[in-house]
Parts: sequence; C-alpha cells; structure tokens
Amino acid sequence: DFKNIDPSRTRVILIEVGPRILASFDPTLSARATRDLEKLGVHVWTNSRVTNINADGVFIGNEFVAASTIVWAAGVAPSSMNKNLGVPLDPGGRVIVEELMNIPGYPEIFVIGDQAHFKGVDGKPLPGLAPVATQQGRHLAKNIKAMVAGKTPKPFRYIDKGFMATIGRNKAIAEVGKLKLKGFIAWMAWLLVHVYFLIGFKNRVAVLLQWIWSYFTHNKGARLITNRDWRTHTGPESET
Ligand SMILES: Cc1cc2nc3c(=O)[nH]c(=O)nc-3n(C[C@H](O)[C@H](O)[C@H](O)COP(=O)(O)OP(=O)(O)OC[C@H]3O[C@@H](n4cnc5c(N)ncnc54)[C@H](O)[C@@H]3O)c2cc1C
Repeated sequence: DFKNIDPSRTRVILIEVGPRILASFDPTLSARATRDLEKLGVHVWTNSRVTNINADGVFIGNEFVAASTIVWAAGVAPSSMNKNLGVPLDPGGRVIVEELMNIPGYPEIFVIGDQAHFKGVDGKPLPGLAPVATQQGRHLAKNIKAMVAGKTPKPFRYIDKGFMATIGRNKAIAEVGKLKLKGFIAWMAWLLVHVYFLIGFKNRVAVLLQWIWSYFTHNKGARLITNRDWRTHTGPESET
C-alpha cells in the first residue's frame, strides 16, 4: 500500500498547544510517546497554538507553516445549545454539574457525558471519554430509579480503569493506576484489551486474525483516493 508516497519527501508536524503531548498520561509516558513519534520522523512542536488555518497552511501566531494536508484533532466542541440554557458553563462550554450530575439549583435536571463538566476526585474535570459517559449513564439510571422509589440518590464517582494510546507498529503507552507500560508490551496490552471488549467470540477471532494478517503482511486494508475529481465537483453533477 501507499507505494506512490515517498516518506523522505513528506514532513509531518504534530502541533500541540500544551507543554507536552498526551497530557492526561504520566510525563514519562508523554516523553516516551514523543520519542517514538520522532523516531517515526514526526516533528513534535509543543507550546504552539494554532491561530488560523487556510487552504495553504497553518498559522501559529505570526509563523506560517505551508501544508496541503491538515488534520485537525484538537477535540470536539460541546453543543452550542448549552449557551441557551442560562446555566454556568466552563470555559470550554460544558455545563458545570454537581456530584449527582445535576445542574446547580436544579436537582431534577441532569447533564452527563461530553456535555458535562464533572469534577473528579483530583478536582479536575473528567475527560470526554466513552467510559466516563457510560459510567455516568448507568449511575444516573440507578439514581433516577432510586428517586422514583423515594430513596436518596448517590453521588457519582468515576472509576478510572486506565487508558492507553497507540503510537504506531509495536509502539504504545498505557497507564493503569500506578502501572505504566510502554513500547511493545503496552502495544500488546492495547491489542488484547480491544479484542477482549469486542462483542461476541466470532468477532474477536475475526478481528484477531485480521490484525495478525495485517501485522505480517503490512497490508493495512486502507486505500488512498487518488482520483481528486471530488475536490472540483461543484456543478450540477455533484448535486445529484
Ligand atoms: C473521532 C472520535 C474518536 C473517539 N475515540 C474515543 C476512544 O477511542 N475512546 C474513548 O473512550 N472515547 C473516544 N471518543 C469520545 C467518545 O466518543 C465520547 O466521549 C462519548 O461518545 C460521549 O458520549 P455522549 O453520550 O456524551 O455523547 P455522544 O456519544 O456524542 O452522543 C450524543 C448524541 O446526541 C445527539 N445530539 C446532539 N445534539 C443533539 C440535539 N440538539 N438534539 C438531539 N440529539 C442530539 C448526537 O447526534 C449523538 O448521537 C471519541 C470521540 C470522537 C469524536
């Protein structure tokens, strides 16, 4: 795959506004991820805020970096509807909620998941991740059931089962409580966890076999769209 791309003629720059990438991980794992990316040829620019993007490239303040392919991965913005609620929001636009996940002053209105700013035990807001949303959903369902039955609802506590990130082939970082994994072991752990959480034995076996095949054949299964006509189809043909 990708035989028409000469990696020596490409330049990949990862721009991060914070002092380090993957800031939710331990600093040692962030540093390892940076090193692994740099070994892959990626330039990691930290403390750099993207201020504008146009068709020719990216602005970092007054500095301009010419680029034809720009991937924006700075997270998702909360729903603009939050602004209409007239309730306290955090600077990112998430609704600040109390420990029962209700809006302050409104014990009967709850906000959970990505739209909620819920403080974890360390005082920092919980991240916008699927485990947070699912745990909050389950907890809230139990609380509503309890309230309907005239019982007292219980405050929500997030159980952090750890998190992991892959950086490339044989490269990953993982943090589970005090356990910190990196390199091949972390990559294997990432792989096994993802296969384990697939639904159904058949799916697990199928995905595992596909991954083994990709690993040994270097065949990713992805394909490049080399026909660029889609960029210019603005006429009636594209509207049909
Ligand atoms: C590209 C991407 C990759 C991600 N990868 C991971 C990952 O690897 N691991 C991980 O843990 N998390 C990941 N996340 C985050 C994870 O998807 C979210 O944290 C999680 O889905 C939040 O659940 P939620 O129920 O709060 O919101 P959502 O899952 O976003 O559900 C909200 C739903 O509400 C609907 N909706 C929105 N506005 C309205 C409206 N006005 N009226 C009615 N319906 C509306 C939306 O269409 C959507 O279906 C990823 C997110 C993205 C975008």
